Amino acid sequence: MWRTFNRKHVAYASFAAITGGTYYLYNRAKRLQPYQQRLATISPELFMSETYTDALNTIQLEGLSDRPHTLWTPPSRKEMLNMLNNAENNEPPFDILIIGGGATGSGTALDAATRGLKVALVERDDFASGTSSRSTKLVHGGVRYLEKAIKELDYEQFKLVKEALHERATFLHIAPYISYQLPIMLPIYKWWQVPYFWIGSKCYDMLAGREAVESSYFLTRGKALEAFPWLNKDKLVGAMVYYDVSA
Ligand SMILES: Cc1cc2nc3c(=O)[nH]c(=O)nc-3n(C[C@H](O)[C@H](O)[C@H](O)COP(=O)(O)OP(=O)(O)OC[C@H]3O[C@@H](n4cnc5c(N)ncnc54)[C@H](O)[C@@H]3O)c2cc1C
Repeated sequence: MWRTFNRKHVAYASFAAITGGTYYLYNRAKRLQPYQQRLATISPELFMSETYTDALNTIQLEGLSDRPHTLWTPPSRKEMLNMLNNAENNEPPFDILIIGGGATGSGTALDAATRGLKVALVERDDFASGTSSRSTKLVHGGVRYLEKAIKELDYEQFKLVKEALHERATFLHIAPYISYQLPIMLPIYKWWQVPYFWIGSKCYDMLAGREAVESSYFLTRGKALEAFPWLNKDKLVGAMVYYDVSA
């Protein structure tokens, strides 16, 4: 009886082990399938090992990868000039040629490349060697531009500020690791400037709508001096603090 009981349980255990094992191997193969298919299609330019991890397994996939290698070095100047001239055949090798690698050119190049266009960029000096090297790095709608838009009743300028405020929110959202909210303090030395700056800052906040950052606020003379003791105390009335984004 004891023998029968044992044999029966060994049989059950073997059956469970075989079924479980088969199920495990089947699932593992299924999980790996898309990665193996991808490895079979990518260009054999770089060799890398990839690690695919899920809750249960860490699977090392040795093979070819289309990811750029960290030690990638750009082609030589001669090679790049050859590519630009397209010395081998006379077909245009690029969809777009950008002149200047400042903020505008680099941004345009990145945008175009991510849309699948073949992009060439020529720069006479170095990336961001021009005006872009002097930027305060504010990602702003521009309080001054809003002031100008209202004073000159310039609707185009107003739309520009609105669009820039939207871009500011997008930038905070997609690049939180390099962007942060920056409080900016405007010292006020004339009484009439208190309502002027207050209304201006609040309009700026409101224009951002749901994409607004921290709200602006007024600082009394005492609080402003507490925060910035080196401010010129003569005739200081107070300060207005508003927020923008910096990178
Ligand atoms: C002091 C200061 C502070 C600023 N602060 C801010 C700020 O906080 N936030 C903000 O949004 N903006 C700011 N700006 C404005 C901003 O910096 C500029 O709008 C922006 O950098 C312009 O970029 P760009 O690519 O158009 O020009 P540039 O940065 O000048 O780039 C032009 C590039 O083209 C190259 N080039 C020119 N001619 C040729 C040629 N024939 N062949 C090859 N290459 C060529 C140049 O070498 C240069 O690298 C500030 C500007 C200044 C001056």
